[in-house]
Amino acid sequence: MSAVGEVADPSMGMVKATAIIRDDDGIITVSSDNSVRVWLKRSNGQYWPSVCHFLTSAGRKLKIDHESRLVFIGQESGTVQMFELSEDLNVLASKRVFNAHNVPVNDLVLCKKKNWIISGGADGTISISEIGSGVKVSDFSCTIVPKNIDIDADSGVLFCGTSEGSIILVRISSDGVCSEVNKLQGHTSEITSILWEPNTNFLFSCSTDKTIMCWDIGGKKGLFLRLQGHQDIPINLSFKDMSLYSIGSNGGIVRWDMTKQRSPPPEWTESDSCEICKGPFFWNFKQMWEEKTMGKRQHHCRKCGKALCAKCASNQTVMPKLGFEFVPVRVCKECHDSVSDADKTPLAKHAALNRQCLNIEVDHSMRRVATINRNKSISLFNLEL
Ligand SMILES: [Zn+2]
Ligand SMILES: [Zn+2]
Repeated sequence: MSAVGEVADPSMGMVKATAIIRDDDGIITVSSDNSVRVWLKRSNGQYWPSVCHFLTSAGRKLKIDHESRLVFIGQESGTVQMFELSEDLNVLASKRVFNAHNVPVNDLVLCKKKNWIISGGADGTISISEIGSGVKVSDFSCTIVPKNIDIDADSGVLFCGTSEGSIILVRISSDGVCSEVNKLQGHTSEITSILWEPNTNFLFSCSTDKTIMCWDIGGKKGLFLRLQGHQDIPINLSFKDMSLYSIGSNGGIVRWDMTKQRSPPPEWTESDSCEICKGPFFWNFKQMWEEKTMGKRQHHCRKCGKALCAKCASNQTVMPKLGFEFVPVRVCKECHDSVSDADKTPLAKHAALNRQCLNIEVDHSMRRVATINRNKSISLFNLEL
């Protein structure tokens, strides 16, 4: 991953979101000083703004439609603004204002099939507006607030990742009527990104619990893979040529080859005592009393799923075929001895950008990665993984 350049301007405050421009070397930013800026690489190799507009409130989310050159900005105020980026990249013309929410916009997604802009507000509302006319099609309240959204335009299902780790499925009829139809439960804490991949019919989600989940929605099997390889928190997902790219908060990038055979890890068994040494877990007062012994913390072998004490689950290994890459996980002795060197062959690749990131954008057609750094700068890299 080679560095391409840095975008930095202390006056713009915290960068909230960025989008990579496709036909030139540049990015768009929205930041806490309410600005939206277009940055282009000049002949001296540095990025300078070609556009600087000030919005009525700070932008939180930014989406660009590369074909139409339309730029959508979801704001703190709840408004979604639409701009058109001129071909010479020197003008960002205001085209429409959507009064989507009365609270900050958490995320937005474009439904090109219906020509809708769909946004999720911090109060749990989903707002759908017609891009061409600006007319609001729908307002819907979810039972849990969506932090991030993506849509399967073919089936009209909106996937909403929530702060408690569940994913709500909202069906949107052709005239915009919404209803919650399902809830996927897998992650144990906040969903940080959600991605629908229309060619494979896979839904991917990642979470502050550090895991990535692949859901087989098309095949109706539900959860089918759990991928764990980040030491940092995966905060963004993208998909290209049968590879899933997950990108973490410390700039760790993992490319998961999705053509490889993997299987889900086992279900964890429930037990009141270690399934190997039979020692009681700390809630098993009866056995603790009878044996006059201290209770133990419960762990699980990631290969056989047995409930074990720390000592009986003290071996560690990677198991790429079960989705455990790079970071060794606890296993029992028997399972540890059964994992061969060939079984440890990685099915994913890893690269480190060494940036403390608030967010990261990837554009596969530009092979470009933009990290929004905690120190208020943006770093650009060539995607080489
Ligand atoms: Zn034990
Ligand atoms: Zn085991």
